[in-house]
Amino acid sequence: SQQEIATPTRTQQILKKHGFTFKKSLGQNFLIDQNILNKIVSAAQLTEQSGVLEIGPGIGALTQRLAEHARKVAAVEIDQRLIPILSELFADQDHVAIIHGDILQIDVKQLISEQFADCASVHVVANLPYYITTPILLKLLEERHDLSNIVVMIQKEVAERMAADPGGKEYGSLSIAVQYYCEPELVTLVPHTVFIPRPNVDSAVIRLKVRSEPPVSVKDEVHFFRVVKAAFAHRRKTIYNNLASFTGKQNKERLTEALLSAGVDPSRRAETVSIEEFALIADALYENH
Ligand code: SAM
Repeated sequence: SQQEIATPTRTQQILKKHGFTFKKSLGQNFLIDQNILNKIVSAAQLTEQSGVLEIGPGIGALTQRLAEHARKVAAVEIDQRLIPILSELFADQDHVAIIHGDILQIDVKQLISEQFADCASVHVVANLPYYITTPILLKLLEERHDLSNIVVMIQKEVAERMAADPGGKEYGSLSIAVQYYCEPELVTLVPHTVFIPRPNVDSAVIRLKVRSEPPVSVKDEVHFFRVVKAAFAHRRKTIYNNLASFTGKQNKERLTEALLSAGVDPSRRAETVSIEEFALIADALYENH
């Protein structure tokens, strides 16, 4: 079969052949380890009928492996210099589409309908550029695409915050935003030695199993997320004090009532408050809003 891209020798060879130099500003850290690739791909639970959206293929380390397991791979890469390299490497693979674009700007809904019309499930799999991990994931989740799961390599601390339960210091508005849309699971921690060049941070692979429905139903999602954000504004303050800045001084009684009706002691901190409790608080504050 084809030569593996994700080895130190082959990667250096491709970079050298094309005179490619890394752009740190684009979060370019390429994978050179088969073992990690295997873990990422098996976590995605692909079938022969799966379509995969890959974000940031680089020189195709992960793309190559995904193409062996999926019906169709569409890889969106922002760096124009990588497009001819990828086109050459995947020239004989009709089921791999290389798309030049910025994932934050692209119409993902249209991409999915154009690329994956004959696929039974759609997955997002990526070794993400770390400088925009959160905006990429929140965009994909908020747009509510019909995805089976999202398996991504991200910064370890961000993975821990996304998967955190109430009670610890990792738990915050990001945990709630992610857990509203999916069930996160840590797949594996990843040492920085598996990349060229090596990133300055620790990495982890996380799987987000997309929920068919949120775990709580709220009267107004925008309001719910505003309340959550406000509750975590100052981590050392109580939920009462944080939300008092949000609702305004004239509404202090209503705020106390809302917290008590949700069964939440006003002296608690937001980091102990569950998503279910936040839903009750937000809905109580939404009344005669
Ligand atoms: N998938 C490759 C691998 O694992 O070796 C490369 C991963 S590297 C961490 C991230 C890739 O995302 C780079 O190729 C970078 O150019 C690309 N990238 C950065 N920002 C992007 C954006 N906004 N949209 C699409 N791709 C982007």
